[in-house]
Amino acid sequence: MRKILFVTSEAHPLIKTGGLADVAGSLPRALLKLGHDIKILLPAYASVLIKADAAGLKKLTQLPIHGQDISILQTRLPGSRVTVLLVDIPQFSERDGNPYCNPDGNDWDDNHWRFFLFAKVAEAIALNQANIDWQPDVVHCNDWQTGLVPALLTQATALVPATKPATIFTIHNMAYRGLFSHQAFAEMGFPQDYWHHEKLEFYGQMSFLKGGLAFADAVTTVSPSYAQEIKSPEFGCGLDGLLRFRAKDLSGILNGIDMDEWNPGADKLIHHNYNRRTINQKVKNKTHLQAQLGLPVSETIPMLGFIGRLVEQKGVDLLLEQMNQLLMLDCQLVVLGSGFDSYEQALTKIAQQHPNKVSVTLGYNEDFAHQIEASADIFLMPSIFEPCGLNQIYSLRYGTLPVVHVVGGLRDTVIEAVQNSQAVENEINDISNGFVFTKATAEDLHQAIKRALACYQHPEKWKKLQINAMKQDFSWEKSAKLYENIYEKILENSMAA
Ligand code: ADP
Repeated sequence: MRKILFVTSEAHPLIKTGGLADVAGSLPRALLKLGHDIKILLPAYASVLIKADAAGLKKLTQLPIHGQDISILQTRLPGSRVTVLLVDIPQFSERDGNPYCNPDGNDWDDNHWRFFLFAKVAEAIALNQANIDWQPDVVHCNDWQTGLVPALLTQATALVPATKPATIFTIHNMAYRGLFSHQAFAEMGFPQDYWHHEKLEFYGQMSFLKGGLAFADAVTTVSPSYAQEIKSPEFGCGLDGLLRFRAKDLSGILNGIDMDEWNPGADKLIHHNYNRRTINQKVKNKTHLQAQLGLPVSETIPMLGFIGRLVEQKGVDLLLEQMNQLLMLDCQLVVLGSGFDSYEQALTKIAQQHPNKVSVTLGYNEDFAHQIEASADIFLMPSIFEPCGLNQIYSLRYGTLPVVHVVGGLRDTVIEAVQNSQAVENEINDISNGFVFTKATAEDLHQAIKRALACYQHPEKWKKLQINAMKQDFSWEKSAKLYENIYEKILENSMAA
């Protein structure tokens, strides 16, 4: 049994903007099941405090850090036995909306300082200086918001020798490097030599992400393929050199999913439950959603779904570029997402012009995401890069066959069913579960969609693919054990040091 502090800026169901929250809400539960004593450390955003209040909230202690009194509160992750420690400062708790952006969609001006203070609290707990009578063996950090924690721990224990827990840093997305000015760096009191390209400096700016990559004992990312890709200039976001340098400490562990929350057999958010044996019932979700969205109601028209942040990464350009061709095919498209104005406007316009074929819902809506997964026949995920991707895994679980670009976690989870539309006649093997395209072009995406639609016309083959998809085990058990192995390895190394 190990004591683990899991430091994250999001954890479902308390706060979520993307896949990080899903992981932080489910991996700790799997680690708890394996017998570990795990606590999540999370900012006490206003919306989190409201939800935590219902689950029971108590104040554990108060720490003076950089002239500010910071409270640590304790609650539980709703629906679990996992303890959550909340870092309560007004910069988190007195602001509405998104964890990172103000209501206008711009980053909060003081993000560097808010997440620096958050990291300082993690440091205090890690070094048993937070008066909570609990010191972790391992500190598990996630994404740039927590990147300073390994750097602070290295700095602190160099100054005053103390028992330092082993540190692991997980990259959920390399594209967010947590970049701030030299001024921000100067405010934080790091020694001058930390302003160095092997430490926190990145082309004249400070990078929080680099703190994790340079100082953690182990670095992981969320799929084996992405772990390879980020060592190359194409996917490394300028940090590939550092990752090549750290190659022996870098590995990829595929995310699991919460198999209870995303379970078509018991999902309370969908119209009609179904499982592998009752897969023929899935269509009832489609006809219900068609009626709800004002689309023509038909069991046989294939429905394509897309859910996600409307940003370049998700391949929205490819989707838009092939839209005219798609609109000529006999199918419906249901989109849920929010993001860049230009994408939101372009999609909305298409839906207005083609109300019988396309439905676009802007915004963030967890319930609707479940309904689309249950209703669609085909799920589009043409991401330009994808560290792991969860939506294609949810789709597989719901028998909604994914069309994906062969990158990162998409490469690791989806296996092509047919090589070209003529080959639809071929037998379906026992492992193929979707449609994969290799070049990030609108044409390649469109060809993959056409393969999917051709295959859809062969109900028995389609059903075989759906069953292949639904029988896969994406539970956290296997992956949690892989994290456990890394914890043991870094603890062994730190004891040997
Ligand atoms: P990323 O973390 O890059 O956004 P992932 O596929 O790893 O992408 O995870 C995205 C998560 O966020 C999934 O759980 C997905 O269902 C959810 N999601 C994204 N956009 C929306 C939305 N507009 N409404 C509801 N859920 C969304």
